[in-house]
Amino acid sequence: MKTLLRGGVVHTGTHRPVTAMATDGGTVVWLGDDEGAAAYDGADEVVDLRGLFVAPAFVDAHLHLVQTGRQLGGLDLTGTTSREEVLELVARHVGGRPGDHVVIGAGWDETAWPVRNLPTADQLERVAPGRRLYLSRVDGHSAIVSHTLLAETPQASLEEGWSADGRLERRAKHVVSDRLADLDGPEQRLAAARRAVASLAAQGIGAFHENAAPHIGPEYELDLVRQAAAEGGLHATTYWGEAGAYDKVERLGVAGLAGDLVADGAVGSRTAAMRDSYADRSGHCGHGYLDAVQIADHVIGCTERGVQAGFHCIGDAALDAVADGFAAAAARMGDEALRAASHRLEHCEMPSAAAATLFARLGVVASVQPLFDALWGGPSGMYAERLGSRWEGMNPFRTLADAGVRLALGSDSPVTAPRPWQAVRAAVHHHAPGQRLGPTAAFLAHTEGGWVAARRPGEGVLREGAAATYAVWDLPVGLGAPDDGPALPDLTPGADLPTCARTVVAGRTVHRSEEQP
Ligand SMILES: [Zn+2]
Repeated sequence: MKTLLRGGVVHTGTHRPVTAMATDGGTVVWLGDDEGAAAYDGADEVVDLRGLFVAPAFVDAHLHLVQTGRQLGGLDLTGTTSREEVLELVARHVGGRPGDHVVIGAGWDETAWPVRNLPTADQLERVAPGRRLYLSRVDGHSAIVSHTLLAETPQASLEEGWSADGRLERRAKHVVSDRLADLDGPEQRLAAARRAVASLAAQGIGAFHENAAPHIGPEYELDLVRQAAAEGGLHATTYWGEAGAYDKVERLGVAGLAGDLVADGAVGSRTAAMRDSYADRSGHCGHGYLDAVQIADHVIGCTERGVQAGFHCIGDAALDAVADGFAAAAARMGDEALRAASHRLEHCEMPSAAAATLFARLGVVASVQPLFDALWGGPSGMYAERLGSRWEGMNPFRTLADAGVRLALGSDSPVTAPRPWQAVRAAVHHHAPGQRLGPTAAFLAHTEGGWVAARRPGEGVLREGAAATYAVWDLPVGLGAPDDGPALPDLTPGADLPTCARTVVAGRTVHRSEEQP
Protein backbone atom coordinates (compact mmCIF):
# COMPACT_ATOMS: atom_id res chain seq x y z
CA MET A 1 0.00 0.00 0.00
CA LYS A 2 1.45 3.34 -1.10
CA THR A 3 0.17 6.40 0.71
CA LEU A 4 0.77 10.03 -0.17
CA LEU A 5 0.15 12.70 2.47
CA ARG A 6 0.12 16.24 1.16
CA GLY A 7 -0.89 19.76 2.08
CA GLY A 8 0.25 19.56 5.69
CA VAL A 9 3.21 20.36 7.88
CA VAL A 10 5.40 17.30 8.36
CA HIS A 11 7.79 17.50 11.30
CA THR A 12 10.57 15.19 10.18
CA GLY A 13 12.38 15.27 13.52
CA THR A 14 15.63 16.15 11.82
CA HIS A 15 15.36 19.00 9.34
CA ARG A 16 12.95 21.82 8.76
CA PRO A 17 9.45 20.63 8.01
CA VAL A 18 8.14 19.61 4.63
CA THR A 19 4.55 19.62 3.41
CA ALA A 20 4.25 16.16 1.88
CA MET A 21 5.38 12.60 2.55
CA ALA A 22 4.95 9.29 0.77
CA THR A 23 5.11 5.85 2.37
CA ASP A 24 5.27 2.40 0.86
CA GLY A 25 4.19 -0.36 3.21
CA GLY A 26 5.96 0.29 6.46
CA THR A 27 8.57 2.70 5.13
CA VAL A 28 8.87 6.40 4.34
CA VAL A 29 9.95 6.60 0.70
CA TRP A 30 9.72 10.29 -0.14
CA LEU A 31 9.52 13.70 1.53
CA GLY A 32 9.00 16.97 -0.27
CA ASP A 33 6.71 19.86 -1.12
CA ASP A 34 3.24 19.92 -2.62
CA GLU A 35 4.63 20.58 -6.08
CA GLY A 36 6.57 17.36 -5.83
CA ALA A 37 3.46 15.68 -4.40
CA ALA A 38 1.40 16.78 -7.43
CA ALA A 39 3.90 15.05 -9.66
CA TYR A 40 4.16 12.00 -7.39
CA ASP A 41 2.92 8.93 -9.15
CA GLY A 42 1.49 5.64 -8.06
CA ALA A 43 -0.04 6.27 -4.63
CA ASP A 44 -2.93 3.94 -3.73
CA GLU A 45 -4.20 6.42 -1.19
CA VAL A 46 -3.84 10.20 -1.22
CA VAL A 47 -4.50 12.00 2.04
CA ASP A 48 -5.14 15.73 1.87
CA LEU A 49 -3.93 16.98 5.24
CA ARG A 50 -5.64 20.38 4.93
CA GLY A 51 -2.79 22.02 6.83
CA LEU A 52 -2.66 19.52 9.68
CA PHE A 53 0.50 18.63 11.54
CA VAL A 54 2.28 15.31 11.02
CA ALA A 55 5.12 14.20 13.27
CA PRO A 56 6.92 11.06 14.39
CA ALA A 57 4.65 9.11 16.75
CA PHE A 58 5.38 9.48 20.45
CA VAL A 59 7.19 6.87 22.51
CA ASP A 60 6.12 6.46 26.13
CA ALA A 61 9.34 5.30 27.76
CA HIS A 62 7.84 4.23 31.08
CA LEU A 63 4.44 2.75 31.71
CA HIS A 64 2.54 -0.22 33.09
CA LEU A 65 0.09 -1.42 30.46
CA VAL A 66 -2.21 -3.74 32.42
CA GLN A 67 -2.47 -1.33 35.34
CA THR A 68 -3.25 1.47 32.90
CA GLY A 69 -6.02 -0.56 31.30
CA ARG A 70 -7.39 -1.61 34.66
CA GLN A 71 -7.92 2.03 35.53
CA LEU A 72 -9.46 2.76 32.12
CA GLY A 73 -11.94 -0.07 32.47
CA GLY A 74 -13.13 1.11 35.85
CA LEU A 75 -16.29 2.85 36.87
CA ASP A 76 -16.13 6.64 37.03
CA LEU A 77 -18.08 7.99 39.99
CA THR A 78 -16.88 11.59 39.83
CA GLY A 79 -19.70 14.12 39.97
CA THR A 80 -22.23 11.76 41.53
CA THR A 81 -24.59 13.53 43.94
CA SER A 82 -26.22 10.76 45.98
CA ARG A 83 -26.03 7.20 47.24
CA GLU A 84 -28.85 6.26 44.89
CA GLU A 85 -26.93 7.58 41.90
CA VAL A 86 -23.82 5.59 42.83
CA LEU A 87 -25.86 2.41 43.22
CA GLU A 88 -27.55 2.98 39.89
CA LEU A 89 -24.20 3.50 38.12
CA VAL A 90 -22.85 0.33 39.72
CA ALA A 91 -25.87 -1.68 38.59
CA ARG A 92 -25.59 -0.36 35.05
CA HIS A 93 -21.82 -0.97 34.91
CA VAL A 94 -21.94 -4.60 36.04
CA GLY A 95 -25.02 -5.29 33.90
CA GLY A 96 -23.00 -4.47 30.81
CA ARG A 97 -20.02 -6.55 31.91
CA PRO A 98 -21.08 -10.06 32.77
CA GLY A 99 -17.50 -11.34 32.64
CA ASP A 100 -15.92 -8.83 34.95
CA HIS A 101 -15.38 -10.32 38.33
CA VAL A 102 -13.67 -7.29 39.83
CA VAL A 103 -15.16 -3.81 39.50
CA ILE A 104 -13.13 -0.82 40.54
CA GLY A 105 -14.94 2.49 40.83
CA ALA A 106 -13.43 5.80 41.79
CA GLY A 107 -14.24 9.46 42.35
CA TRP A 108 -17.23 9.67 44.71
CA ASP A 109 -17.15 12.64 47.06
CA GLU A 110 -19.92 12.71 49.65
CA THR A 111 -18.99 16.21 50.83
CA ALA A 112 -20.72 17.47 47.68
CA TRP A 113 -23.91 15.47 48.32
CA PRO A 114 -27.05 17.11 49.79
CA VAL A 115 -27.55 13.96 51.89
CA ARG A 116 -24.30 12.36 52.92
CA ASN A 117 -25.29 8.75 53.51
CA LEU A 118 -22.98 6.36 51.75
CA PRO A 119 -23.83 3.10 50.03
CA THR A 120 -23.22 0.10 52.26
CA ALA A 121 -21.79 -3.33 51.56
CA ASP A 122 -25.36 -4.72 51.84
CA GLN A 123 -26.70 -2.32 49.25
CA LEU A 124 -23.82 -3.05 46.86
CA GLU A 125 -24.54 -6.74 47.19
CA ARG A 126 -28.16 -6.12 46.32
CA VAL A 127 -27.45 -4.19 43.07
CA ALA A 128 -24.48 -6.36 42.04
CA PRO A 129 -24.82 -9.79 43.63
CA GLY A 130 -21.63 -11.83 43.83
CA ARG A 131 -19.41 -9.07 42.43
CA ARG A 132 -16.18 -7.92 43.96
CA LEU A 133 -16.74 -4.18 44.14
CA TYR A 134 -14.24 -1.61 45.31
CA LEU A 135 -15.37 2.01 45.16
CA SER A 136 -12.61 4.41 46.00
CA ARG A 137 -13.28 7.89 47.40
CA VAL A 138 -12.05 10.84 45.30
CA ASP A 139 -8.87 11.14 47.41
CA GLY A 140 -8.17 7.41 47.40
CA HIS A 141 -7.95 7.30 51.18
CA SER A 142 -11.13 5.37 51.80
CA ALA A 143 -13.25 2.92 49.86
CA ILE A 144 -16.61 1.18 49.97
CA VAL A 145 -16.29 -2.56 49.44
CA SER A 146 -18.90 -5.22 48.64
CA HIS A 147 -19.61 -8.20 50.90
CA THR A 148 -18.26 -10.60 48.29
CA LEU A 149 -14.89 -8.85 48.35
CA LEU A 150 -14.89 -8.45 52.14
CA ALA A 151 -15.56 -12.17 52.53
CA GLU A 152 -12.42 -12.93 50.52
CA THR A 153 -10.23 -10.68 52.64
CA PRO A 154 -11.17 -11.67 56.20
CA GLN A 155 -7.82 -10.46 57.53
CA ALA A 156 -8.92 -6.89 56.78
CA SER A 157 -11.40 -7.09 59.67
CA LEU A 158 -8.46 -7.32 62.09
CA GLU A 159 -6.90 -4.08 60.85
CA GLU A 160 -7.50 -0.49 61.87
CA GLY A 161 -9.88 1.38 59.62
CA TRP A 162 -12.25 -1.61 59.34
CA SER A 163 -15.98 -1.09 59.32
CA ALA A 164 -18.54 -3.88 58.89
CA ASP A 165 -20.75 -1.69 56.67
CA GLY A 166 -18.06 -1.83 53.99
CA ARG A 167 -16.45 1.58 54.35
CA LEU A 168 -12.75 0.97 54.86
CA GLU A 169 -9.81 3.22 55.60
CA ARG A 170 -6.09 2.94 56.35
CA ARG A 171 -4.67 -0.56 56.87
CA ALA A 172 -7.98 -2.32 56.33
CA LYS A 173 -8.36 -0.60 52.97
CA HIS A 174 -4.80 -1.53 51.96
CA VAL A 175 -5.34 -5.20 52.73
CA VAL A 176 -8.32 -5.24 50.38
CA SER A 177 -6.75 -3.13 47.62
CA ASP A 178 -3.62 -5.32 47.65
CA ARG A 179 -5.84 -8.32 47.04
CA LEU A 180 -7.60 -6.71 44.09
CA ALA A 181 -4.68 -7.02 41.72
CA ASP A 182 -4.22 -10.68 42.69
CA LEU A 183 -7.83 -11.41 41.79
CA ASP A 184 -7.29 -10.53 38.14
CA GLY A 185 -6.41 -13.53 36.00
CA PRO A 186 -4.84 -13.66 32.52
CA GLU A 187 -8.16 -12.95 30.81
CA GLN A 188 -8.80 -9.77 32.77
CA ARG A 189 -5.19 -8.66 32.36
CA LEU A 190 -5.28 -9.17 28.61
CA ALA A 191 -8.54 -7.23 28.35
CA ALA A 192 -6.98 -4.41 30.36
CA ALA A 193 -3.85 -4.44 28.20
CA ARG A 194 -5.97 -4.20 25.04
CA ARG A 195 -7.90 -1.25 26.44
CA ALA A 196 -4.65 0.50 27.29
CA VAL A 197 -3.15 -0.10 23.84
CA ALA A 198 -6.19 1.48 22.18
CA SER A 199 -5.99 4.50 24.47
CA LEU A 200 -2.26 4.96 23.82
CA ALA A 201 -2.79 4.80 20.06
CA ALA A 202 -5.49 7.46 20.41
CA GLN A 203 -2.89 9.75 21.99
CA GLY A 204 -0.50 9.47 19.04
CA ILE A 205 1.75 7.03 20.88
CA GLY A 206 3.22 4.44 18.52
CA ALA A 207 5.59 2.68 20.88
CA PHE A 208 5.87 2.15 24.62
CA HIS A 209 8.23 0.64 27.17
CA GLU A 210 6.65 -1.74 29.64
CA ASN A 211 8.40 -1.47 33.00
CA ALA A 212 7.38 -4.79 34.51
CA ALA A 213 8.75 -6.03 37.81
CA PRO A 214 8.01 -8.76 40.35
CA HIS A 215 6.32 -6.33 42.74
CA ILE A 216 4.03 -5.01 39.98
CA GLY A 217 2.72 -8.10 38.19
CA PRO A 218 3.40 -11.76 37.45
CA GLU A 219 5.95 -12.80 34.82
CA TYR A 220 3.25 -14.13 32.49
CA GLU A 221 1.87 -10.61 32.17
CA LEU A 222 4.74 -9.78 29.79
CA ASP A 223 3.32 -12.15 27.16
CA LEU A 224 -0.08 -10.51 27.49
CA VAL A 225 1.46 -7.06 27.11
CA ARG A 226 3.23 -8.14 23.92
CA GLN A 227 0.11 -9.86 22.61
CA ALA A 228 -2.04 -6.78 23.16
CA ALA A 229 0.60 -4.56 21.57
CA ALA A 230 0.93 -6.80 18.52
CA GLU A 231 -2.85 -7.01 18.04
CA GLY A 232 -3.24 -3.26 18.39
CA GLY A 233 -0.22 -2.52 16.21
CA LEU A 234 1.93 -0.75 18.81
CA HIS A 235 5.65 -1.34 19.19
CA ALA A 236 6.46 -2.67 22.67
CA THR A 237 9.81 -2.83 24.42
CA THR A 238 9.64 -4.81 27.65
CA TYR A 239 11.82 -4.71 30.76
CA TRP A 240 11.92 -6.83 33.87
CA GLY A 241 13.09 -5.11 37.06
CA GLU A 242 14.81 -7.86 39.02
CA ALA A 243 18.43 -7.64 40.14
CA GLY A 244 20.72 -10.38 38.86
CA ALA A 245 17.91 -12.39 37.18
CA TYR A 246 20.07 -12.93 34.09
CA ASP A 247 18.47 -16.25 33.20
CA LYS A 248 15.13 -14.48 32.80
CA VAL A 249 16.23 -12.13 30.02
CA GLU A 250 15.84 -14.79 27.37
CA ARG A 251 13.07 -16.73 29.06
CA LEU A 252 10.87 -13.65 29.48
CA GLY A 253 12.00 -12.13 26.18
CA VAL A 254 12.86 -8.76 27.71
CA ALA A 255 15.25 -6.09 26.47
CA GLY A 256 16.92 -5.79 29.83
CA LEU A 257 16.82 -6.10 33.58
CA ALA A 258 15.81 -2.49 33.99
CA GLY A 259 12.77 -0.36 34.63
CA ASP A 260 11.26 -0.43 38.07
CA LEU A 261 14.13 -2.25 39.75
CA VAL A 262 13.78 -0.12 42.84
CA ALA A 263 16.88 1.58 44.25
CA ASP A 264 14.52 3.52 46.53
CA GLY A 265 10.86 4.46 46.96
CA ALA A 266 8.87 7.60 46.17
CA VAL A 267 8.71 11.13 47.58
CA GLY A 268 4.95 11.20 48.19
CA SER A 269 5.12 8.28 50.59
CA ARG A 270 8.48 9.49 52.00
CA THR A 271 10.26 6.33 50.88
CA ALA A 272 12.63 7.98 48.34
CA ALA A 273 16.15 7.78 49.83
CA MET A 274 17.41 11.24 50.84
CA ARG A 275 20.79 12.46 52.13
CA ASP A 276 19.02 14.74 54.63
CA SER A 277 15.79 14.14 56.42
CA TYR A 278 12.38 14.95 55.03
CA ALA A 279 11.20 18.49 55.77
CA ASP A 280 7.89 17.20 57.11
CA ARG A 281 9.29 14.30 59.15
CA SER A 282 12.54 15.08 60.89
CA GLY A 283 15.08 12.31 61.27
CA HIS A 284 13.46 10.32 58.46
CA CYS A 285 15.50 9.91 55.24
CA GLY A 286 13.41 7.37 53.33
CA HIS A 287 14.66 3.97 52.24
CA GLY A 288 17.43 2.85 49.91
CA TYR A 289 16.81 -0.69 48.70
CA LEU A 290 20.12 -1.27 46.89
CA ASP A 291 23.63 -0.18 47.82
CA ALA A 292 26.43 0.81 45.43
CA VAL A 293 27.95 -2.68 45.49
CA GLN A 294 24.66 -4.35 44.54
CA ILE A 295 24.13 -1.75 41.83
CA ALA A 296 27.63 -2.29 40.43
CA ASP A 297 27.13 -6.07 40.43
CA HIS A 298 23.91 -5.75 38.46
CA VAL A 299 25.41 -3.30 35.96
CA ILE A 300 28.45 -5.54 35.46
CA GLY A 301 26.31 -8.67 35.07
CA CYS A 302 24.10 -7.01 32.49
CA THR A 303 27.02 -5.40 30.64
CA GLU A 304 28.76 -8.77 30.37
CA ARG A 305 25.64 -10.22 28.77
CA GLY A 306 25.08 -7.24 26.50
CA VAL A 307 21.67 -6.39 27.98
CA GLN A 308 20.40 -3.16 29.45
CA ALA A 309 20.56 -2.58 33.19
CA GLY A 310 18.49 0.08 34.87
CA PHE A 311 17.00 1.25 38.13
CA HIS A 312 14.09 3.23 39.51
CA CYS A 313 15.92 5.98 41.42
CA ILE A 314 14.43 9.18 42.85
CA GLY A 315 16.10 10.57 46.00
CA ASP A 316 19.56 12.17 46.06
CA ALA A 317 20.96 9.40 48.29
CA ALA A 318 19.63 6.74 45.89
CA LEU A 319 21.17 8.61 42.93
CA ASP A 320 24.49 8.78 44.84
CA ALA A 321 24.43 4.99 45.26
CA VAL A 322 23.51 4.53 41.59
CA ALA A 323 26.32 6.84 40.47
CA ASP A 324 28.83 5.07 42.74
CA GLY A 325 27.66 1.72 41.38
CA PHE A 326 28.02 2.82 37.76
CA ALA A 327 31.45 4.33 38.47
CA ALA A 328 32.61 1.07 40.02
CA ALA A 329 31.24 -0.95 37.10
CA ALA A 330 33.00 1.37 34.62
CA ALA A 331 36.28 1.10 36.53
CA ARG A 332 36.03 -2.66 36.21
CA MET A 333 34.79 -3.00 32.61
CA GLY A 334 35.73 0.24 30.89
CA ASP A 335 33.47 3.06 29.74
CA GLU A 336 33.05 1.66 26.23
CA ALA A 337 31.54 -1.62 27.45
CA LEU A 338 28.94 0.25 29.48
CA ARG A 339 28.15 2.62 26.63
CA ALA A 340 27.64 -0.33 24.30
CA ALA A 341 25.03 -1.83 26.66
CA SER A 342 23.10 1.46 26.78
CA HIS A 343 21.86 1.35 30.35
CA ARG A 344 19.00 3.52 31.59
CA LEU A 345 17.61 5.13 34.72
CA GLU A 346 13.93 5.64 35.54
CA HIS A 347 12.80 8.94 37.08
CA CYS A 348 16.34 10.07 37.96
CA GLU A 349 14.83 12.92 39.96
CA MET A 350 17.71 14.16 42.15
CA PRO A 351 21.08 13.43 40.53
CA SER A 352 24.07 15.52 41.57
CA ALA A 353 25.88 17.49 38.85
CA ALA A 354 28.73 14.97 39.09
CA ALA A 355 26.30 12.10 38.63
CA ALA A 356 24.81 13.77 35.53
CA THR A 357 28.32 14.11 34.06
CA LEU A 358 29.06 10.47 34.83
CA PHE A 359 25.80 9.24 33.26
CA ALA A 360 26.55 11.24 30.13
CA ARG A 361 30.07 9.77 29.94
CA LEU A 362 28.70 6.24 30.26
CA GLY A 363 25.84 6.71 27.78
CA VAL A 364 23.16 6.15 30.44
CA VAL A 365 19.72 7.33 29.27
CA ALA A 366 17.45 9.15 31.75
CA SER A 367 13.80 8.07 31.42
CA VAL A 368 11.93 10.99 33.00
CA GLN A 369 8.31 12.06 33.60
CA PRO A 370 7.64 15.80 33.12
CA LEU A 371 4.11 15.49 34.51
CA PHE A 372 5.64 14.68 37.89
CA ASP A 373 6.93 18.26 38.01
CA ALA A 374 3.66 19.60 36.63
CA LEU A 375 1.69 17.81 39.37
CA TRP A 376 4.06 17.99 42.33
CA GLY A 377 6.68 20.67 41.60
CA GLY A 378 6.64 24.35 42.53
CA PRO A 379 6.95 26.20 45.85
CA SER A 380 3.60 24.97 47.17
CA GLY A 381 3.58 21.51 45.63
CA MET A 382 3.97 18.11 47.25
CA TYR A 383 7.74 18.01 46.63
CA ALA A 384 8.18 21.31 48.52
CA GLU A 385 6.00 20.05 51.36
CA ARG A 386 8.13 16.91 51.72
CA LEU A 387 11.56 18.38 50.93
CA GLY A 388 11.46 22.18 51.29
CA SER A 389 13.62 24.10 48.84
CA ARG A 390 15.10 20.85 47.50
CA TRP A 391 12.12 20.73 45.09
CA GLU A 392 13.97 23.26 42.91
CA GLY A 393 16.61 20.70 41.99
CA MET A 394 14.15 17.92 41.20
CA ASN A 395 13.58 16.45 37.74
CA PRO A 396 16.54 18.50 36.44
CA PHE A 397 15.92 18.00 32.74
CA ARG A 398 18.09 20.90 31.67
CA THR A 399 21.02 19.94 33.90
CA LEU A 400 20.90 16.40 32.53
CA ALA A 401 20.56 17.51 28.90
CA ASP A 402 23.33 20.10 29.24
CA ALA A 403 25.62 17.45 30.72
CA GLY A 404 24.97 15.34 27.61
CA VAL A 405 22.55 12.78 29.06
CA ARG A 406 19.97 11.55 26.54
CA LEU A 407 16.42 11.99 27.81
CA ALA A 408 13.40 9.82 27.08
CA LEU A 409 9.99 11.06 28.24
CA GLY A 410 7.25 8.91 29.68
CA SER A 411 4.18 8.93 31.90
CA ASP A 412 4.68 6.10 34.40
CA SER A 413 0.99 5.50 33.60
CA PRO A 414 -1.22 4.92 35.57
CA VAL A 415 0.72 7.23 37.93
CA THR A 416 0.17 10.05 35.43
CA ALA A 417 -2.00 9.80 32.32
CA PRO A 418 -0.19 9.18 29.03
CA ARG A 419 -0.71 12.62 27.45
CA PRO A 420 2.43 13.26 25.41
CA TRP A 421 1.74 16.87 24.44
CA GLN A 422 1.04 17.70 28.08
CA ALA A 423 4.35 16.06 28.99
CA VAL A 424 6.22 18.03 26.32
CA ARG A 425 4.59 21.24 27.56
CA ALA A 426 5.46 20.36 31.18
CA ALA A 427 9.12 19.92 30.21
CA VAL A 428 9.09 23.28 28.41
CA HIS A 429 7.37 25.02 31.37
CA HIS A 430 9.14 23.26 34.26
CA HIS A 431 8.37 24.88 37.63
CA ALA A 432 12.09 25.61 38.02
CA PRO A 433 12.93 28.02 35.17
CA GLY A 434 16.53 26.80 35.04
CA GLN A 435 15.38 23.26 34.26
CA ARG A 436 13.20 24.01 31.24
CA LEU A 437 13.84 22.29 27.93
CA GLY A 438 13.34 24.01 24.60
CA PRO A 439 10.25 22.81 22.68
CA THR A 440 12.26 20.92 20.08
CA ALA A 441 14.46 19.21 22.70
CA ALA A 442 11.38 18.21 24.68
CA PHE A 443 9.58 16.93 21.60
CA LEU A 444 12.58 14.91 20.43
CA ALA A 445 12.96 13.43 23.93
CA HIS A 446 9.40 12.11 23.63
CA THR A 447 9.95 10.66 20.15
CA GLU A 448 13.54 9.88 19.11
CA GLY A 449 14.67 9.76 22.76
CA GLY A 450 12.42 6.80 23.47
CA TRP A 451 13.98 4.84 20.62
CA VAL A 452 17.45 5.67 21.91
CA ALA A 453 16.40 4.37 25.34
CA ALA A 454 15.28 1.14 23.65
CA ARG A 455 18.64 0.84 21.87
CA ARG A 456 17.25 1.75 18.48
CA PRO A 457 19.02 5.03 17.77
CA GLY A 458 18.13 6.64 14.48
CA GLU A 459 14.44 5.71 14.74
CA GLY A 460 11.65 8.08 15.65
CA VAL A 461 12.36 10.48 12.78
CA LEU A 462 10.72 10.76 9.36
CA ARG A 463 13.28 10.47 6.61
CA GLU A 464 13.53 8.34 3.50
CA GLY A 465 14.08 4.74 4.52
CA ALA A 466 12.77 5.23 8.06
CA ALA A 467 9.76 3.42 9.49
CA ALA A 468 6.43 5.05 8.59
CA THR A 469 5.57 5.59 12.26
CA TYR A 470 3.81 8.90 12.69
CA ALA A 471 0.78 10.72 14.01
CA VAL A 472 -1.49 13.26 12.34
CA TRP A 473 -2.66 16.03 14.68
CA ASP A 474 -5.80 18.07 14.31
CA LEU A 475 -4.18 21.43 15.01
CA PRO A 476 -2.65 23.38 12.16
CA VAL A 477 0.90 24.48 12.75
CA GLY A 478 2.71 27.25 10.91
CA LEU A 479 5.49 26.17 8.63
CA GLY A 480 7.81 28.87 9.94
CA ALA A 481 10.48 30.81 8.12
CA PRO A 482 12.99 28.80 6.07
CA ASP A 483 15.67 29.10 8.75
CA ASP A 484 13.40 28.13 11.64
CA GLY A 485 13.76 24.77 13.26
CA PRO A 486 10.97 22.24 12.99
CA ALA A 487 7.52 23.71 13.65
CA LEU A 488 5.62 22.63 16.75
CA PRO A 489 2.17 23.37 18.17
CA ASP A 490 1.71 26.29 20.54
CA LEU A 491 2.81 24.99 23.95
CA THR A 492 1.78 28.05 25.95
CA PRO A 493 -0.02 26.96 29.14
CA GLY A 494 -3.74 27.23 28.51
CA ALA A 495 -3.47 26.96 24.72
CA ASP A 496 -5.34 24.08 23.12
CA LEU A 497 -3.11 21.09 22.59
CA PRO A 498 -3.55 19.03 19.44
CA THR A 499 -5.73 15.94 19.44
CA CYS A 500 -4.77 12.91 17.44
CA ALA A 501 -6.49 12.35 14.11
CA ARG A 502 -4.52 9.30 13.07
CA THR A 503 -1.68 7.15 14.37
CA VAL A 504 0.35 4.96 12.02
CA VAL A 505 2.98 2.45 13.11
CA ALA A 506 5.22 0.97 10.44
CA GLY A 507 2.57 1.74 7.82
CA ARG A 508 -0.35 0.30 9.77
CA THR A 509 -3.08 2.68 10.90
CA VAL A 510 -3.60 1.88 14.59
CA HIS A 511 -5.90 4.78 15.41
CA ARG A 512 -8.19 6.97 13.34
CA SER A 513 -10.52 9.59 14.78
CA GLU A 514 -14.00 10.21 13.43
CA GLU A 515 -13.08 13.35 11.50
CA GLN A 516 -9.77 11.94 10.32
CA PRO A 517 -8.04 13.01 7.16
ZN1 LIG B 1 6.83 2.73 37.00
